[in-house]
Amino acid sequence: MAPEIKYTKLFIDNEWVDAKSGKTFETYTPHDGSVIAKVAEGDKEDIDLAVAAAKRAFHRNSEWRQMDASKRGEILRKFSDLMERDQKYLAELESYNNGMVLAHAKTFIGGAVGIVRYLASCADKITGETIPSDGEVFSYTLRQPIGVCGLILPWNGPIFIFVSKVTTALAAGCTVVVKPAEQTPLTALVLAALLAEAGLPKGVLNVVNGFGPGAGSSLTHHSDVAKVSFTGSVEVGKLIQQASGNSNLKRVTLELGGKSPLIIMNDADLNVAVPYAANAVFFHQGQICIAASRLFVQSGIYDKFVEAAVKYAQSIKVGNPTDPTTQNGPQIDEEMMNKVLGYIEKGKKEGAKLLCGGKRIGTSGYYIQPTVFVNVTDDMTIAKEEIFGPVQSILKFETLDEAIDRANATNYGLAAGIFTTDLNNALQFSKHVEAGTVWVNTYLHFTPQQPFGGFKESGIGRENGLDSLLAYTEVKTVAVAL
Ligand code: NAD
Repeated sequence: MAPEIKYTKLFIDNEWVDAKSGKTFETYTPHDGSVIAKVAEGDKEDIDLAVAAAKRAFHRNSEWRQMDASKRGEILRKFSDLMERDQKYLAELESYNNGMVLAHAKTFIGGAVGIVRYLASCADKITGETIPSDGEVFSYTLRQPIGVCGLILPWNGPIFIFVSKVTTALAAGCTVVVKPAEQTPLTALVLAALLAEAGLPKGVLNVVNGFGPGAGSSLTHHSDVAKVSFTGSVEVGKLIQQASGNSNLKRVTLELGGKSPLIIMNDADLNVAVPYAANAVFFHQGQICIAASRLFVQSGIYDKFVEAAVKYAQSIKVGNPTDPTTQNGPQIDEEMMNKVLGYIEKGKKEGAKLLCGGKRIGTSGYYIQPTVFVNVTDDMTIAKEEIFGPVQSILKFETLDEAIDRANATNYGLAAGIFTTDLNNALQFSKHVEAGTVWVNTYLHFTPQQPFGGFKESGIGRENGLDSLLAYTEVKTVAVAL
């Protein structure tokens, strides 16, 4: 049964309101492409109202700014409890609107709850420092919340990314305006209602659905916004950095794409490496920025590995994401499905060998078979561009040194992984690979304390962990004459 759609309006200053233009847009389920709701379509005028509410809530005399930091932590903890209370509904709605399989939606929500609890315990531990004195002044630093933050979300992990960005900003004491992705506008509204229920004061959190060039761009150009945190494509990330330069030099955190290398050494345990490598690229139908979309396998185990990888890919059950037995669901929409199928065609044309999959499944919804290519070379489009779909590209290598050079030969640098039983291989690779996160004999393993982000064009700054929390603060030095 379809989950109930409880909220479709904008959330501004703790009120549910229509867009000023009165416009709405349709949102779909990727399972069959049918419309599931009409959602208020915010634009510049609505962003202006939301930023004004967030600015009022950030005034030095506001309830939020006067609040003890530990009380902020209590509100976040209550929010995490409410997320757990409503976990079933949240997972069903995420699955319905996004196509994420139910089990993965539950895993993401569990991870998000962990992040909130970690941040709840950090809120009252943001402190300044005393500075060695020159005898004439006593100096100390204050770490203060940066101000109104614009948080722009992608469609691929709507709940997880909302929670990670919003609760980090709130733990630091900021106020926020969130612009969810146009493909997945619904769960952000439910989370806003839960934060209000947890006791967040008026105006601290505002959610404005709408499109990138309208609501998104207005937020990034707004001169009362002190920081933008964005997750999405490199192309839009670059526009956001320009918008910062063209407005008030707002701080910018960017979490962008990836073309992550995963290295399988001859000495790896194949029983472990094969399923991990498959999950690393097929998880959520390949729609994760850290997908291990370049799988480098050392020549000594190449044939054995490929045989097992194909068998694994063929065993993945693709189907309705709300069916608890399904392992892979549909791509987010028709456009993304066609883009992925286009990459598969390019792979074939450029000489990669298709060993399994490669086709759309059925004619309703946006399902693609888990696909495995071998004989992939570094110059092929499927080895260079982010596919964001269930396509495993297997490349052969001889030495670790060669693998490191080839792993780094990309403009991206988000994540990387290695499977090996030789500690030296693991340490050499971890030291030299250009990536924000390196996994050894595991992949996709996150904890709330780990900072996450990219080298090179994969982004600027970090999400999660203390690095991210402190990036929502400014350091102020105070010097007092002695
Ligand atoms: P996208 O860049 O098209 O859109 C992301 C968000 O930006 C949406 O909310 C959109 O409305 C908004 N937007 C679009 N144009 C804008 C503009 N001019 N100004 C302001 N906002 C604008 O990306 P997508 O299609 O939603 O997501 C897929 C991409 O995101 C992939 O490249 C993926 O790798 C990347 N991604 C990265 C991470 C990460 O953490 N590094 C996580 C998830 C997704």
